[in-house]
Amino acid sequence: MAKISDVLIIGGGIHGASLAFHLIKKNLRPIVIERKFVAAGATGRSSGLVRMHYDLEPESRLAWRSFQYFRNWEEQVGGNCGFRRTGFLQFVEQDLMDHLQANVQLHQRIGIPSFLIDGDDVKRLAPSFSTDDIGLAAYEPESGYADPNSCTRLFLEEARKGGAEVIQDCEVMDIISQKDRISGVITSQGEFSAPIVVNAAGAWAAHVSAMAGVNLPIDTWRHDTMFIRRPKALSLEHPTVIDFPNSMYFRPETGGLTLVGLEDQNPIGESPDGDTENTKPGFIERAIERICKRIPGMDEGSQHSAHGGYDGITPDQRAILGSAGPEGYYLVCGFSGTGFKIAPAVGECMAELIVDGQAHTVDISPFRLERFSEGRLLKGEHSYMNIWH
Ligand SMILES: Cc1cc2nc3c(=O)[nH]c(=O)nc-3n(C[C@H](O)[C@H](O)[C@H](O)COP(=O)(O)OP(=O)(O)OC[C@H]3O[C@@H](n4cnc5c(N)ncnc54)[C@H](O)[C@@H]3O)c2cc1C
Repeated sequence: MAKISDVLIIGGGIHGASLAFHLIKKNLRPIVIERKFVAAGATGRSSGLVRMHYDLEPESRLAWRSFQYFRNWEEQVGGNCGFRRTGFLQFVEQDLMDHLQANVQLHQRIGIPSFLIDGDDVKRLAPSFSTDDIGLAAYEPESGYADPNSCTRLFLEEARKGGAEVIQDCEVMDIISQKDRISGVITSQGEFSAPIVVNAAGAWAAHVSAMAGVNLPIDTWRHDTMFIRRPKALSLEHPTVIDFPNSMYFRPETGGLTLVGLEDQNPIGESPDGDTENTKPGFIERAIERICKRIPGMDEGSQHSAHGGYDGITPDQRAILGSAGPEGYYLVCGFSGTGFKIAPAVGECMAELIVDGQAHTVDISPFRLERFSEGRLLKGEHSYMNIWH
């Protein structure tokens, strides 16, 4: 006998969890089906950066709406999501200065606290940084990072209180439709029936979607990160930074650590079940070289730990949100390595789309799947081009 629910969500990462939380608020009772355990995929390895600086307006709007959750999590969701306000700096190459300025203006129009500052200002905020190459930077004083594991757990805790179920160690093996309408899924723990199925399967999303007969232009993207113990002289916490000139981002972590990730040489197309306990050869050396270039005193630091993770990536490196294929089938995937910080708002908008037929908190229609077949890939008006290269 199949288990019956209102909505089946495939994937217990931050997006499955956020959607479950928001569906409960709209009086639907979802079941989250997770093949391993909650946050077993990209979410559990996410660097957790929370910033609003994007070159695409709808993404900035989603990040700004999500920020209202991160900065007020206790009231909005419950519990402590680990948000730390470190301030955020965006550095770009000289030839992108015009774009930086235009994007900061865009963010200010949205209402995001974002300012242009010069190299001297950066030096005052972060005395340990080398700033010789910085003419202007974008500064978001309110931004920082949060703990993706805690966020996922807390979303699900609240969803459960409202009647949602989370079933772990349960792999979806097929999606069933009747007369072009979704009717449920077949899993390693039996059959589940529901008129709505949501694909929130991260790096596995294309594989899962094929079960519904919907092909997705989603590949896998592998990303390594490392933690460095800062030397005593650098014990003061530094801001969170995206540093395009060094193809790198970094942020402080509790315990005197600094997390570093690189924007280049992230392999595309590997199996998402690859080894995530170890980094790819050469990654640690490259990461150390680059962080020491930006923070010269870091050469006195030491390696703490390093690991990797997989996310799904699309041709324009933006998410796929909306309905597709059989009636009742929805996509919340393809987050392309930047999906954590927008998850609260994406869940809110997807719940609106599913229940009300349209998202009204933020217009998510630009993210629909059809943009690929229509040749309308997403690109910011003042584009920085692809972040991952
Ligand atoms: C190393 C790393 C660092 C990152 N840093 C940042 C950052 O600083 N800021 C930011 O905004 N974003 C960041 N990202 C991106 C962000 O973490 C992801 O976009 C986001 O976590 C994706 O969440 P998700 O719920 O879509 O996918 P996931 O967290 O991958 O969850 C998908 C889940 O689906 C499950 N699943 C798959 N197949 C099935 C099946 N057949 N049946 C049942 N369950 C299934 C998987 O086990 C998995 O748990 C980073 C990503 C990585 C890998």
